[in-house]
Parts: sequence; structure tokens; C-alpha cells
Amino acid sequence: MKIFGTFGTRGIVNEKMSSDFALKIGLSFGSLLKEESESGKVLVGRDTRTSGQMLRNALVSGLQSTGYDVIDVGVVPTPAIQLGCRRDDDVVGGVIITASHNPPEYNGIKLLESNGMGLKKEREAQVEEIFASEDFYEADYTEIGESEQKKVLSNYKEEIKSNLEVEDIREADISIVVDPGNGSGSFGTSYLLRELGCEVKTLNSQPDGFFPGRDPEPTKKNLKDLRKLVPALGADLGVAHDGDADRAVFVDENGNFIEGDKTFGLIVDDMIGEDETVVTTVATSNLIDDLAKRNNGNVVKTEVGDLIVARKLHEIDGKVGGEENGGVIFPEMALGRDGAYTAAKIIEILSKKSESLSGLVENLPDYSQFKSKVECPDDKKSEVMDKTKNEIKKRIDADFDETDGLKAIVEDGWMIVRPSGTEPVVRCFSEAKKEERAEELLEIGLNSIKSSLEN
Ligand code: MG
Repeated sequence: MKIFGTFGTRGIVNEKMSSDFALKIGLSFGSLLKEESESGKVLVGRDTRTSGQMLRNALVSGLQSTGYDVIDVGVVPTPAIQLGCRRDDDVVGGVIITASHNPPEYNGIKLLESNGMGLKKEREAQVEEIFASEDFYEADYTEIGESEQKKVLSNYKEEIKSNLEVEDIREADISIVVDPGNGSGSFGTSYLLRELGCEVKTLNSQPDGFFPGRDPEPTKKNLKDLRKLVPALGADLGVAHDGDADRAVFVDENGNFIEGDKTFGLIVDDMIGEDETVVTTVATSNLIDDLAKRNNGNVVKTEVGDLIVARKLHEIDGKVGGEENGGVIFPEMALGRDGAYTAAKIIEILSKKSESLSGLVENLPDYSQFKSKVECPDDKKSEVMDKTKNEIKKRIDADFDETDGLKAIVEDGWMIVRPSGTEPVVRCFSEAKKEERAEELLEIGLNSIKSSLEN
């Protein structure tokens, strides 16, 4: 029985995501942990969704029934939960109840290893087996788990600060508008940045599971209020998070939306030194390659997916990892994307340079990018991808990389076609120095997908 996608499981509340489902996930996860460690604690946290408490209660009940004590850290950003697991030696596993950037009727469950990273693939498969068989471990009444509350936010903020040049940031007098979109970021970033001496104004910063301020996904369209407010207040920049604040995207002082790979590029340029490695995906801009090369560093590319990047980063002991959607991973902290740390890091970079955010972005190597998608039913994806790969190889003379879908790399750009892991679509991205070339590469990809769907 397949429950988990690339990282955790999501669904609509009281359809898939019911209290019964959460209880069984708790029972299954506890039973898996029981096979490895006789006792220990499981750390559980959540975002601001209206269904979060209901799912937490059911899930915790399942864990307690298998004999595990639970540490409830409440509504906090996802990276604070992941770091909380890593820093507590009693913790044998963790759970995040969140649907990240999905609309308010959704929720989801992510299971974590004791170090706070997403559960290993093979262990997820074991949870699925236990869930299907309902062969749960039943603790004796003398072993039933207890639940305690714990605060993890202040340690999360302190650790972020300990990694930064705090005095430089204080002296720079930076003003920022923070838009956590009514999500769990409402409890993190604005407080952290004030402690760093920034002048902070907030937007959509009261936690509210209805997400009344905006849709939880921090896209250009959804951030129109932030884009207006930053120049209106004369702030140096704006930052926005998704519902669980593991991603951070930025708006410059003029109110322009900045694509995530650009701010990731600024961080790579700042952090990567000689022989140090950045991990990103095959769908991320060559900007990252250029900046790593400029600093004599290396780039390792993986399949698309934040957990895949996090695993690789940890495995090879890389310096920093990220994706083009504003998720940056700092492996000394949470072993997952970290929204507040990303915001603080961009502010640290600004404080070191006497340049505006728009100026810093303008100085980055410039690429034109196109993104598109073609609808394709999930059960047709693998057949369509096989045909599309052949079509592309007929249409273009390139180096081909099959890490994720098919990437055609030509001298002046690249194009990738890959099936979406979450939606019934096949995606196509292209990039080149010249806009016309990027458009031409996208057309080759789209035409290849379409003719594969027809035949
Ligand atoms: Mg998220």
C-alpha cells in the first residue's frame, strides 16, 4: 500500500487525512520504532492548519499505544521541529503535521529520523507494510507512553544566530517586511530578525489556519500585497514563507519578486569556498554552476525533491543545498529546508555588501528560463516519458542526462522533461543565455511530449 510520496503524505482533511488515518500512522510508526529501540521519545509538531490539533491528538494516541513517550512542540516552523529532533538525544523519531504550501483544506504527515531528516525510503515502505497489515505493537498497560510539552523555538533562533555575523547585521540597520502568510512562520522569522537588530514590519503574521491573508504558496501572484508594501514602506526587502516556513522567497526594495534560484545563488556565492560542494537538482539554473565555479567549488545534482537534496548533502558532507523554489538547506542545522535561516542569511549578505538587493541580483549571471507543463494521467506517465525521451533524442543533438526524466544539455543551454511527482502533468523547463534559444528548447520539449501523448 503506497502512502508516502517524495516526502510524507498529504490529502484533504476528513477524506484521506482523517483522525482514523492519523491514528493508524501513529500506530504504524510506533510499531516500526519498537523494532529498533525499546524506548525513547517521539517529537511531534505542526503548522497552523485548523485540522492540526485533531490529527496531532489521533497520531499521538497511536504512538502512546505502542509505548512511546511524545514531546509535543506545538505550532512551530518545520525546520525548528527538525532541529529539535536532531538536538535531543532522547528522540528516536519525529513527526511534522503540515501540508506545506497546499490550500487550507489539506493537511499532511511527514515522518522523521532521530536526526530530524525525512524518514529513509525503506523505512517508509516498512511503515506502509505495518499500516496495511494492521499488525501493530500493543504495549502493556504499564508501558503506555506519556506526553509532555517542550519549547524548541528559542534554541532554533539561538542556533541560527550563532552561525551568523550578528554585529555586521546590527550595524547595517536593515528594514524588512516579513510575510509568513498566516502559517507557522508567524512564530519564527520576525522575532529572529528583530533580535538581529533589523527593523521588522509584518504582513499576514497572525497564525490562522484559514490562511485569510493569501494562499500559502509564496508565488509571485500570491505575494502581490508584499510586493506593494515593501516599496511603500521604503523597506530594504521583503521575505515570504510557505505554510510551514521551510521555504523563503524574497522581494527587492522596488517590490520586484526574485526567483528562488537567484537568492540561492547569492547564498552559494557567499558560502561556497575552494573544493566545497553545493547540492542542487538537475532542474536548477546553471547560475548555481557558474557561481560555484567562480569560487572553485563543486556542484552535485540530484533528482528533484527537497528530501533527495537533503539526503545527498548529508551523505557527501556538502556545504549547502537548495532548489529553485526558495528552499535552502544548511546541513549544520536542520537537515531540511530552512526558511528563517535563509532569510537571516540573505540579510547577512546584504549587511556585508554596500549594495541593494536588486543590485546584488542584477550582478548575477543572467539566464532566460521557460517553464511549462502538459497534462498527462498518472498511469500513462512512464509510457509517455519513454516515448518522449526517444522523440527528444530524434529532435536534438545534445548530451543526455537521465537523473530525473530526460535533460538535454546543449552548448548554450538545456531543457528537461520530467513527470511531476505530485500532479498529473509532465513538466518541461528550459534555460539559455539568449531568450529565443530558451524558448526554442522549450518548444522541442513540449512538442516531444505532445506527439508522445498522441501516438
Ligand atoms: Mg513547506
